[in-house]
Amino acid sequence: MSKTYVKVNLPEGVRCAVALSYDLEMCAGYQPDGVNHGRIIPEVQEYTLELCSIAEEFGVQLHFFHVGNGFEETCVCLREILHRGHLVDNHTYSHIPLLTEEVDRLDKELAQVNALYAERLNWTSTMLRGPGGYQDGLDERPANQEVILRNGFKWVSCRFDSTDLKNRDYVLASPAENVPYVYPTGLIEIPIQGYTDRSFFDNLLCENRQAYDGWRTEFGGTAVGKDWRVPWTSDGAVEEWKVYNRQAIDYAYDNHLLYVPTWHPTTHYYHDRDNVCLRDLLSYAESRDEKVWVCTVRDAAELISLN
Ligand SMILES: [Zn+2]
Repeated sequence: MSKTYVKVNLPEGVRCAVALSYDLEMCAGYQPDGVNHGRIIPEVQEYTLELCSIAEEFGVQLHFFHVGNGFEETCVCLREILHRGHLVDNHTYSHIPLLTEEVDRLDKELAQVNALYAERLNWTSTMLRGPGGYQDGLDERPANQEVILRNGFKWVSCRFDSTDLKNRDYVLASPAENVPYVYPTGLIEIPIQGYTDRSFFDNLLCENRQAYDGWRTEFGGTAVGKDWRVPWTSDGAVEEWKVYNRQAIDYAYDNHLLYVPTWHPTTHYYHDRDNVCLRDLLSYAESRDEKVWVCTVRDAAELISLN
């Protein structure tokens, strides 16, 4: 089926837009039990609030897609995030893939998280991030699209092209290739573009799978010291990530594009102990001659018009 693409209208004076968001969760890939918790350990909550502080220095609003399970333990942090003017949106209750055949369960999970936000945060989620990301998004899944729409979401961000993650040029071109489109039901897809921090650090740069699995099994999901370094990447990994993010901005800048990268506070907590990557990205964005607008995915949705 051919896709119905949409038009992205960059605001006057904006050379390119970087809709950065974080998936707020204790990623399953770091857990001994393989369960994706939204129960964020206090150290990662603190790290997340540091990310907010860095963004605030640049006048930037951050956008967090949050897994609902463990809500009680993360509720105070979520309130603080919202109180400081950042955004929280739904990432399902248990990190269930949006492609699931269990459409009723998906329906319940989306409603459950929406209800928690309404009752406990006085907050409405308007956008959904798909756990994991899928090569073809929700193509050919009309029932899943309908459930998402029924729970109040006009936009979903879940398509993720992992065809050739070893090919830097291919990945950099993602904002030009994996552009937003409309599903036949009217739901609008805003694809995840480029490398995620998980795909970069824990796949592409993972040099020792055994060390990764060993750590995950024994210590996964726990706090680490300030000087701790992941045992599965080389020392230069953070520098390489900074270089990639600058290249990604350059690509969007040169081609006047919307770029939608996805990061995780937990991944940065483990890989970027000194918390330098967000500042580097924001400083670089600010240093370009014409305006690089670092915005939220909700802002990106506002740029979209149907053809
Ligand atoms: Zn996730």
